[in-house]
Amino acid sequence: MTSTPTVLDALVIGAGPAGIGTALALASVDGLVFGVLERGEIGQTFLDWPAEQTFLTPSFTGNGFGATDLNAVHPETSPAFSLGVDYPSGRQYAAYLRGVAKHFHVPILDGTEATSVTPRDGGFEVLSERGSVLARSVVWAGGEFGDPSTPRITGHSLLDHSSGPAAWAPHPGDVVVIGGYESGIDIACHHVQQGAHVTVLDYQTPWDAGTGSDPSFRLAPRSRMRLLGALATGRLTLTAAQAVKVSKTSQGYATRLGDGDVVTSDSPPIAATGFGPGLGPVADLFATREDGWPELDEDDQSTITPGLFLSGPTIRHRGLKFCFVYKFRQRFAHIARIIGERADKNVDALEAWRAAGMLTDDLSCCGVDCAC
Ligand SMILES: Cc1cc2nc3c(=O)[nH]c(=O)nc-3n(C[C@H](O)[C@H](O)[C@H](O)COP(=O)(O)OP(=O)(O)OC[C@H]3O[C@@H](n4cnc5c(N)ncnc54)[C@H](O)[C@@H]3O)c2cc1C
Repeated sequence: MTSTPTVLDALVIGAGPAGIGTALALASVDGLVFGVLERGEIGQTFLDWPAEQTFLTPSFTGNGFGATDLNAVHPETSPAFSLGVDYPSGRQYAAYLRGVAKHFHVPILDGTEATSVTPRDGGFEVLSERGSVLARSVVWAGGEFGDPSTPRITGHSLLDHSSGPAAWAPHPGDVVVIGGYESGIDIACHHVQQGAHVTVLDYQTPWDAGTGSDPSFRLAPRSRMRLLGALATGRLTLTAAQAVKVSKTSQGYATRLGDGDVVTSDSPPIAATGFGPGLGPVADLFATREDGWPELDEDDQSTITPGLFLSGPTIRHRGLKFCFVYKFRQRFAHIARIIGERADKNVDALEAWRAAGMLTDDLSCCGVDCAC
């Protein structure tokens, strides 16, 4: 923590890219007193990624020409530069985050889980096993990795979620993957490469090109290239169908489809069905949208708890998803500006984030519509 004030201007919970990035933007505002709590280590989620998993958004040091590395969390940094790779693994990206936090002296208390957040006296009291912290604003940056979602179908407890090591372990024979967007295609290609026969089930057929240009709604080019390679082996089947039931059989596992067909596998089917919002101790402090995601005002603040902000891939505004680093980092400096202005500080330095293509405060201009 920075010095020992009785009340911080802001407390950030979580030291992943969202938490570190927001803290760095807060540090751009002279005189703000803030800290970061992290229950594990810096970049813990990336340390927990299966070893085989890598980023799908490429890193490239375009900094200086207005094209800041897509995976950077600060305008003057680039994972491509510091790591020397374009698609970092989880361990590599955690090393980048550690390096950035160290270089900019981000005040982080690690090994400290925030267990409750209570609005109090116009601010918040945050409890951890180390005691209580008072802060005027709280930024929840706890990520979604701790909240894997599985489909609500009969037998769902038999599924292995794609975020866990069991799903990535060798799977000889026939494999079923439920969910055909990025994580489903990723793990399907992995098992095809290992020699398995894989069936991917998804009634929405997200592997089709689709019509929009937003990478949140269509497969990344790298995933498409890997998909073509996997299809060429003849061991990958993409099926437009909904899984409705999973059961164990004497031979392995059976996945029943909506049309009554059954697909068998030698191992538990893999649920590549994404994540929930993962709001942990702040879940009750946000209203919920119809689609289940937290309701935010134009400043990424809870609509029912003023002073509580959300940073990271869980941000949704209307039809926009901020699920990649290059998207949700657009809001670090915006949140820092709101917190800085409330504390009556000069926030001009945050304009450097805009110059680096890392600040969007007008949400009406985020649509992606490429001509070709
Ligand atoms: C499999 C997978 C692949 C992805 N690939 C890409 C990609 O290629 N490119 C891209 O841009 N994005 C990608 N993403 C999106 C990804 O969600 C983000 O890039 C990133 O992990 C989110 O950052 P975050 O800081 O919000 O959350 P996290 O990185 O999950 O960090 C949250 C941190 O908060 C800590 N924490 C949680 N609860 C508490 C608590 N109560 N108290 C204290 N600390 C707490 C956690 O330990 C963790 O360190 C991917 C996501 C997944 C799951």
